[in-house]
Amino acid sequence: MCRFGPAGNSPVFYKSGGKSSVEIPQWLHHLDLTAYEYQCGRGIKIGEETAKLIGKNAKKYGIALSIHAPYYINFCTEDRDKLEKSKNHLLKTMLLAKWMEADMVVFHPGSIGNMSRQQAFKNAADALEKFLSNEVSRWGVEGIKISPETMGKKRNLGTLDEVIELCSIFNLEPTIDFAHIHAVGHGALKTKGDFERVLEKIENNLGFDVLKNLHIHFSQIEFTEAGEKRHWSIREEGFGPDFSLLAKLLIEKNMKATVICESADRQVEDALVYKSIYEHLQM
Ligand SMILES: [Zn+2]
Repeated sequence: MCRFGPAGNSPVFYKSGGKSSVEIPQWLHHLDLTAYEYQCGRGIKIGEETAKLIGKNAKKYGIALSIHAPYYINFCTEDRDKLEKSKNHLLKTMLLAKWMEADMVVFHPGSIGNMSRQQAFKNAADALEKFLSNEVSRWGVEGIKISPETMGKKRNLGTLDEVIELCSIFNLEPTIDFAHIHAVGHGALKTKGDFERVLEKIENNLGFDVLKNLHIHFSQIEFTEAGEKRHWSIREEGFGPDFSLLAKLLIEKNMKATVICESADRQVEDALVYKSIYEHLQM
């Protein structure tokens, strides 16, 4: 079985009386959802005690936990101060994952700026190398998985190929955001075959175990020439990609993926729709 759940605290959580993220695991459990990605995109605003409570509740209610690191992490930068800050943001998120006993920390590799893609990739790979061999043990967060995400904007590092390359160099598992792949490829995911080629590339380069347990982000997305414009929910018509195409493959390939729904303000509602599409196709 695949797992489904929301990115962050959907407005419907607060509308139904929810107050703190500590209550989220139980609330999701009652909705029959089994995953949750805690959001630190705009910064880490949570202490050790609360983090441990969320982790404890997630375990109690069978919710797979992941954490999204701050958006302003940039491993491509040549500015030493910015790089130090980026490393600190990622380390703090990893420490949070340790407290929560979360499965992984999702991060955006960085921004290309005026560099060539090759230079940006080299900078990120060099910085990650030092990060993983020095800083991680100094902070006592060895063993916490970090997962680079496929990005939706052309000037960000994080095409499918770049993310796969980073994962194979550093033995990491990728976060595959299908909306981003769709946006950066100007609507690249139209058929089941389009999705299949993505999954096959992951399997061929990183192995079936990585594919099987894949961490997925999904939502409908609007894009321009430069890539991602904004995430939408499935209520707004005319935006892809189509989840049912991926759902068929999740079943055919017998995957145990985690699907985190990033629909704008309807993460929970759409996670339930994705789950029901998946369950109907299984019958
Ligand atoms: Zn992301």
